[in-house]
Amino acid sequence: MDVLNKITKFVEEHHAQLVVVSKTYPSERLKEVYDQGIRIFGENKVQEILEKKEILPSDIQWHMIGHLQSNKVKQIVSFITLIHSVDSEKLLNEIQKQAKKIDRKVDVLLQMHIAMEETKFGLDENELKNILDNINSGKYSHVRIRGLMGMATFTEDENIVRNEFKTLKKIFDQTKLSLLHSSFDTLSMGMSGDYELAIEEGSNMVRIGSLIFGKRNYG
Ligand SMILES: *Cc1c(COP(=O)(O)O)cnc(C)c1O
Repeated sequence: MDVLNKITKFVEEHHAQLVVVSKTYPSERLKEVYDQGIRIFGENKVQEILEKKEILPSDIQWHMIGHLQSNKVKQIVSFITLIHSVDSEKLLNEIQKQAKKIDRKVDVLLQMHIAMEETKFGLDENELKNILDNINSGKYSHVRIRGLMGMATFTEDENIVRNEFKTLKKIFDQTKLSLLHSSFDTLSMGMSGDYELAIEEGSNMVRIGSLIFGKRNYG
């Protein structure tokens, strides 16, 4: 597990956090990484989180990093540690509703659309502004907005990726200033191919899968 040690060391030195992205890998692989000391795992499907959670140790912190449908929120609201992928006001409203029902305060990140690909999910700056107004008006009593998440364009061109990260960092800093009550401290950006760059540009949470586990088999 040389790679994992190298990543862990780099991430710690930069006061960032590592989310090990375990989607598509079997639970036995997660257990190996767990035994190396990893406790934060990121998944992108509700069903897969529920299945793995059944089998694996209970002190794992599960992060939802993929697109989340509103009708599935209630299945994870009671235990999820962080939802990275809040990409609509509708979803945020549903998280508030379900969290209130069980009187839990749920930590979330707002996912921003920073990439050139239209296919990627995320809010634009107008949508963000609307949500921030609602947050400041006290609408979300059972949600804690902890920060932002973004995914850069899938490209070899480092300049494009760097600029997108810079943009997200700027939005992050502005958002932090505009919030009245805030535990806004998390900037989730950077994956296997660009995590070092992301950290250089101000990320404090990286989401890394294939670099640790090897190539994903989507079957
Ligand atoms: C799959 C995924 C990752 C990790 O991707 P790798 O390239 O395997 O590190 C990170 N973030 C999100 C949102 C993902 O869906």
